[in-house]
Amino acid sequence: MIQVYNTLTREKEIFKSITPGKINMYVCGPTVYNYIHIGNARSSIAFDVVRRYFEYRGYEVNYVSNFTDVDDKIIKRAREEGVDEMTIANKYADAFEEDTLPLNIKPATVRSRATEVIPDIIVFVQDLIEKGYAYESEGDVYFRAKKFKGYGILAHQDLNEMTENAAGRLDDDELIRKEDPIDFAVWKATHEKDEISWQSPWGDGRPGWHIECSVMAQKYLANTIDIHGGGIDLAFPHHTNEMAQSEAHTGQKFVNYWMHNGFVNVNDQKMSKSLGNFTTVHDMLKHYDDPMTIRFLLATTQYRRPINYSPDTLAQARVALDRIRTGYRNLLFRLNEAAVGQDDVVEIAIEKQITFFESAMDDDLNTPNALASVFELVTLANRYAEDKAVHSNTVKHLLDTIRLFMGIFGITGLSGEPQITDMQKQLLDARESARASHDFDLSDQIRQQLSEVGIIVEDTAQGQRWHQA
Ligand SMILES: [Zn+2]
Repeated sequence: MIQVYNTLTREKEIFKSITPGKINMYVCGPTVYNYIHIGNARSSIAFDVVRRYFEYRGYEVNYVSNFTDVDDKIIKRAREEGVDEMTIANKYADAFEEDTLPLNIKPATVRSRATEVIPDIIVFVQDLIEKGYAYESEGDVYFRAKKFKGYGILAHQDLNEMTENAAGRLDDDELIRKEDPIDFAVWKATHEKDEISWQSPWGDGRPGWHIECSVMAQKYLANTIDIHGGGIDLAFPHHTNEMAQSEAHTGQKFVNYWMHNGFVNVNDQKMSKSLGNFTTVHDMLKHYDDPMTIRFLLATTQYRRPINYSPDTLAQARVALDRIRTGYRNLLFRLNEAAVGQDDVVEIAIEKQITFFESAMDDDLNTPNALASVFELVTLANRYAEDKAVHSNTVKHLLDTIRLFMGIFGITGLSGEPQITDMQKQLLDARESARASHDFDLSDQIRQQLSEVGIIVEDTAQGQRWHQA
């Protein structure tokens, strides 16, 4: 029985998927106008662990995420650099793939860009207008927030307070265009000639920020999905607006479990450009040679708790991870000379830790408690490695369990062999099948792709071999 904390009800609830054995999950992705920062990485890793744990529990997880590739920030950046918007979006979408690879974040089942679903967005907005939930005003289209019963309940916000705050943020023009300051844009008219835009029934324009997630969740998953994830800062306005649009459009509940991850502080301070502690993953990976330690720090804090990222916490994570690696290797070293058979006392101790690990993870993904079980297994491994005679079934069981549990946190390469990510392993497998079916163009293309991340592939009479450059 898995329990997850639902932001909507503020309670831990027993998880039950809509379709037995299957999970439809949507997680908001980044706006691709810059390298992702450590907060983005934390969110991706938190929901990667959620996904991996549900998969471990036997679910098939359909994981959809987006790139916001049209937005004010992208347009501004394109202006500053004197290029078009798509040049910026493509550059940082590629950088996202590149930066998340060493952190071993599984690729989404579907990752869609806002600009790929513009016709769907137009149909969706049209329907909101027809249903009276949205109205056109000078080429913009706004959603009538107060018409949606329960607007604001996701983030537990008071409607009057929200209206006042909204009014304070708007300029006079916007106030005139809107029926109510709290209304939000689902479509924005284009005002500059050289700005990226699409034709629509309301004139040239582009989507508002929130609409793409509602459209993609419905298009690639279903009207009602099991899990929606993102950083806690997205609960309002982004997820509040997604929920209103989706439920107004379909007349059905949008999400069964809203899950939000906590913040990342850098050196005990909120991360901000003005404090000079803005930390991009791109820079972190450039200056730190062990990406698995970064992943370890971000994955083993409970996903709702804040994380402090600092040289100290990183160093502590390194010590902890090295302890696991050393225990794993100590036992691995004994595998060759292990006798056939098993040791019942050790087997019982392993089973006990498996139960502890699972009950910790079942309890709203309590990764710190689950990690404590991994450390118990490592202590067991160190002790067993000292035994005069060891038995192969038990050695393997212990090694497999540690590797499996660390794999749920997304940590690979415990044995100290060259570390490759699951994605790189998939690429190697794909290349092997491409060669087997004589698709040499594809196999060369994959070889090139791997060489760019430092994995050199060679073909020998015995098949494909690889090493790290
Ligand atoms: Zn979203």
